[in-house]
Amino acid sequence: MLHIDSKYIGLVSARLEKFKRTKDTLYNFRCPLCGDSKKNKNKTRGYLFQKKGDFIFKCHNCGASKGFSTFLKEIDPTLHSQYTMERYKSGLTGKGRFTEEPTFTFKKPVFKKKVDLPLASEDPQSKIYLRKRGLDPDKFYFADRFKHFCNKHKPTFEDTKFDHPRIVIPMYDKDRSLIGFQGRSLDPSQKPKYLTIMLSEESPKLYGLDTINEEEPIYIVEGPFDSTLVENSVAMCGSDVDIRSLGWSNYIWVFDNEPRNRENINRVSRVIDNGDKVVLWPQNIVEKDINDMFLGGQNIKTLLESNTYSGLEAKLKLQSWKRI
Ligand SMILES: [Zn+2]
Repeated sequence: MLHIDSKYIGLVSARLEKFKRTKDTLYNFRCPLCGDSKKNKNKTRGYLFQKKGDFIFKCHNCGASKGFSTFLKEIDPTLHSQYTMERYKSGLTGKGRFTEEPTFTFKKPVFKKKVDLPLASEDPQSKIYLRKRGLDPDKFYFADRFKHFCNKHKPTFEDTKFDHPRIVIPMYDKDRSLIGFQGRSLDPSQKPKYLTIMLSEESPKLYGLDTINEEEPIYIVEGPFDSTLVENSVAMCGSDVDIRSLGWSNYIWVFDNEPRNRENINRVSRVIDNGDKVVLWPQNIVEKDINDMFLGGQNIKTLLESNTYSGLEAKLKLQSWKRI
C-alpha cells in the first residue's frame, strides 16, 4: 500500500543519515545496516524505491536487498508494529492485494517539447548515411543548421557563423518528454563528432529511457546508434551518469570491443569492481562496436546474452580479453 509505505518512510527518515527524496518514488540515504562507507561520510548507498507497487530497500555497498516491511522491522521494531497494524486495518495484508492502488492524478500538466525538424529519412545525405550503417532513419531528425536549431531550444552557441548540418538524436524521459538531444556531424571534418545538449539539467544523460522496461535486464551501451540495435537498452550520452541512482535492479554494461584501449579497460574494470554485470566480447569478434558487429552479420542478442559476466569470472575474462 503505497501511501502507507510513503508515510512510514517519512517517519523512519529521522533515523536515516543524509536522507533525501530523489524522485517521487526514490529515496536515498546512508545504509543503516552496514553503516555505509567508513572513510567517506557523504556516501549514500542505501535506496528505497518502488517496484510492482511495493517499496524495496537496496544497498549498493553491502548488497542488502529486502522489502520495506522487513527493512523497517530491523531499523525500528516499534514503528514496524504500527505499520503492520495500519496495513492490517486497511485490509490489505494479503498477497496480491497491492495492485489495486487508486491512481491519484497530482501530476502538473507538462508542456511536452517536441523536435521541430524533418526526419533524417527526409534528407538524402543523412538517410544514406544511416541506411549504410543499418540504422532506421525514421528514428532520428535532421538539422541543416544545427547551431541555429539548438539556440531555439536553449542559448548554446554565441556564434552561429559557421553553422553546419547534423543528425539530431532525441533524448526522451520515461514520460516521452524531450530532455535533450545529441547532434552527430555528417562531415568528418566537423568536430566534435557528437555534441550533447541537455534541456533538462536534472535528467540523466541517457538515450532510450522512454523505451525500456525496467522489469527486464537493461543493457547500457556506448552510443545511441548502437542502442537502437539492442533490445531494452539505453546509451550513455555523457560520462557523468549515476546509474545507481536510477534504482534499476538488473542492468548490464556493454562497452566497445577495444581491448587495446587503456581507458576502455579501466571502465570495464571499474564496473566489475562495483559488482555490476558486464559484457566481455569473445576473442573471435573483430568488430569494434555493436553497429559494426551488426553489419558483420552477428546476432547481437545472442552475443550479449552468452557473454555477460560478473564478479571473479568477469575479472578472469577481462585478463584474457585485454591486450595491454
Ligand atoms: Zn549497506
